[in-house]
Amino acid sequence: MDRQPTVAPHVVFLPFPAQGHVKPMFMLAKLLCHVGGFQATFVNTEHNHALLQRTLAAGDLPAGFTFLSLPDAVPHDREQQQSSISTVRELFNSIRNSKPDFRRLVAELSPTCIIADGIMSLGFDVAVELGIPVIAFRTFSAVCAWVYFHLRDLIEQRVVPIPADADMDQPITSIPGLEGILRRRDLPSICRHGTPPPILNFFLRETESMRRASGLILNTFDGLEGPLISRLSTIFPKIFPVGPLHGLLSNVVKEEEPLTASNGGLKEEDRSCMTWLDSQPSRSVIFVSFGSLVALTEAQFVEFWHGLVNSGKPFLWVVRSDSVLGEDEVPSSVEVLSGLKSGAARDGSRCCVVDWAPQVEVLAHEAVGGFLTHSGWNSTVESVLAGVSMACWPRLSDQQVNSRAVSDVWRIGLDMKDTWDRSTVEKTVRELMEGRRDEIMKSTIEMAGMARGSVEEGGSSYHNLEKLIVYIRSMC
Ligand code: UDP
Repeated sequence: MDRQPTVAPHVVFLPFPAQGHVKPMFMLAKLLCHVGGFQATFVNTEHNHALLQRTLAAGDLPAGFTFLSLPDAVPHDREQQQSSISTVRELFNSIRNSKPDFRRLVAELSPTCIIADGIMSLGFDVAVELGIPVIAFRTFSAVCAWVYFHLRDLIEQRVVPIPADADMDQPITSIPGLEGILRRRDLPSICRHGTPPPILNFFLRETESMRRASGLILNTFDGLEGPLISRLSTIFPKIFPVGPLHGLLSNVVKEEEPLTASNGGLKEEDRSCMTWLDSQPSRSVIFVSFGSLVALTEAQFVEFWHGLVNSGKPFLWVVRSDSVLGEDEVPSSVEVLSGLKSGAARDGSRCCVVDWAPQVEVLAHEAVGGFLTHSGWNSTVESVLAGVSMACWPRLSDQQVNSRAVSDVWRIGLDMKDTWDRSTVEKTVRELMEGRRDEIMKSTIEMAGMARGSVEEGGSSYHNLEKLIVYIRSMC
């Protein structure tokens, strides 16, 4: 790719303040600096800014990359509580309150354009008010982005909110391109009974707001989601699928940066699991991680523990300090966790538990043969590129849609949504790692090949990054 250091365009990045949003946007900002010679100003909340600084290694940042932060309007122990709907709502409100600060900051910087998260409409508001071009970065899958653009129709058709007593297996027939694929249970979690109307309205409003952007960036690739990307291009004629971004970034900067660069991680990684993985046979380990937000009840936690032990497979489990919600009827999570950790120590070869893993490296490790995941979009594309098949247990937002695509469209995994009893966990892990292994691995390997091809020079995502650079330069 040509580096043109003439007039450097300046892009302000505005991610939604959560791990799954900060990380891909951070990687895109780095790519635009590395490849386009751009200046990037990455705007975090103060809390996330402090977290990100802890994980950045020397040499992590390219020339032209700077940070600015917006004040937090939520308590700093949000990490401990952010799975609760009320805290999510609080977060949304606080973001709206940041608008005057963001407006002031953009007015001072007068950038070439803003790249705003698809659920940060204040970015679009400010851009329109100040007459600055704005591009949306939706950090979800194309399939889920497309579903969100049909939320209003689903509400008008009285399909959403899904009633408490509804048959969750009933097909959804009214979303073009997804007929025969989605059932009620595969719609985003906010469509389910009990979601407070303000949350549903928030997503309706944010989705509509994205239409003001002049283009759409997605962390996906043509080989995976071509048909849905085409449909989204009817809304956004300028569309840039540049995923998997971590693959693109590692291709572009491979000689300049160590593999261990944190790339937008907000938590410190426990690398001890890499040594444990080195001692495991090839493709034997199931990696278990439910991302940065999903929390289990203690009952669910105990069922997963038994299911994993009964599967007979070695497992590496990410148990964050805020992974388990309190409940009275079952042993406290502290007891379960200490039992789990001492069990791990006694039977060192069978399992390893860490608070936060270097996930991209774990997935690329030779010993990993399967991924039990919550189907967050970053985790999904990371697994796709690594060629690791998935057992999916989705809980929140886009995860229900992603897991359905993994199992029934791309056929690179199994979907166990809405079930968590120990026998289902055991059976699903065994099917993934033994029973249906050959069939699922065949499509997983094919998809990984397409993912690698897309981020190589001449591949679709590489080409789309070049197009994005040309497009932003044209705004100068
Ligand atoms: N992640 C990680 N270490 C872990 C667990 C997760 O580095 O132990 C990273 C993972 O690689 C992914 C991100 O955290 O990039 C989680 O994003 P995702 O969209 O999968 O889920 P979310 O956290 O938004 O639910």
